[in-house]
Amino acid sequence: MNLQELARDEVRALTPYQSARRIGGQGDVWLNANEFPCATPYQLTQQTLNRYPECQPPMLLAAYAAYAGVRAGQLLVSRGADESIELLIRAFCEPGKDAVLYCPPTYGMYGVSAEAFGVTRRTVLSTQNWQLDLPAIEAALAETTPHVKIVYVCHPNNPTGNLLDHDDLRCLLKMAEGRALVVVDEAYIDFRLDMSTASWLEEWPHLVILRTLSKAFALAGLRCGFTLAHPEIIQLLLKVIAPYPIPVPVADIALQALGSDGLQRVKRNIAEVIDNRDWLQQALSTCSCVDRIFSGEGNWLLVRFQNAERVFKMLGEQGIVVRDQSRQPGLEGCLRITIGTREECERVWQVLSVLKEKR
Ligand code: PMP
Repeated sequence: MNLQELARDEVRALTPYQSARRIGGQGDVWLNANEFPCATPYQLTQQTLNRYPECQPPMLLAAYAAYAGVRAGQLLVSRGADESIELLIRAFCEPGKDAVLYCPPTYGMYGVSAEAFGVTRRTVLSTQNWQLDLPAIEAALAETTPHVKIVYVCHPNNPTGNLLDHDDLRCLLKMAEGRALVVVDEAYIDFRLDMSTASWLEEWPHLVILRTLSKAFALAGLRCGFTLAHPEIIQLLLKVIAPYPIPVPVADIALQALGSDGLQRVKRNIAEVIDNRDWLQQALSTCSCVDRIFSGEGNWLLVRFQNAERVFKMLGEQGIVVRDQSRQPGLEGCLRITIGTREECERVWQVLSVLKEKR
């Protein structure tokens, strides 16, 4: 029996997302997945697991609603923001008929999730300064076959690090009105909360915002994310989500992370990341193997090197794992280096400053 032939065509053809843990590699300094480098000290308080959890734990919704400045009815909690990317496609896109649109260079999961469900991927490259190419997006939105139902934009954008212009985002919302959802992926917005679009939800019913506890909250292993949207969109997503998506231990820890001590800790995390990011940016600017450092708003630096392949290899040999972005459009020679502890940043610099001497 040929098991491959039994599988769906789309799945057979699919290249899965190259997540940090799937790529593997060897090392002791993990700077390839934009994680926070230090563990949080939360302990489980709920010790019984014989009962199913609530589908949407009300206390958790209330706590995140207070943090994000929205109402609990405008929130969905899911298994990371990645699950939400997929739920939106399942709820809004007809396989074989509809499309999602996104703007490379950007996060890879918008395309992978669409492909897995037989939904067309439309890409409109970002402009040279990595902002939205609005005329090209408008042209794609006007087409009816396939019909673009979701536009994913990333703010700040992974891997370029820049925020999107708020006027452009408003313009995009206007042109998508009545046609498509605009999903603003704010996975890294906690580092620049002043630039969030969460307060726009009342005004734009087709705006959807993705959030996560994986980055500034230092809880990537917890797998907890949030969708902020109009209550009708939340109700539609609840039709396709698994019956018990949030395990009891996840809600337990997430609730602690959103308490007042937890939020103080997030503030300290953010200050530490920014401090180390500034340090690394300054240190790398003295290395002659570095062509350009793109100063971003997230917990990483995107760096263009004269010989990225060699730099990647040299870092790897010293146990430092970073993310190669050179295959993304416009990012030839670029590596994405997550901001680790100060010691980890120093190790990166040590390797690169040796390279400088060898040139
Ligand atoms: N969006 C972006 C832009 C990301 O970088 C990531 C994490 N790699 C996600 C979403 C997914 O986050 P989560 O861990 O919440 O699934």
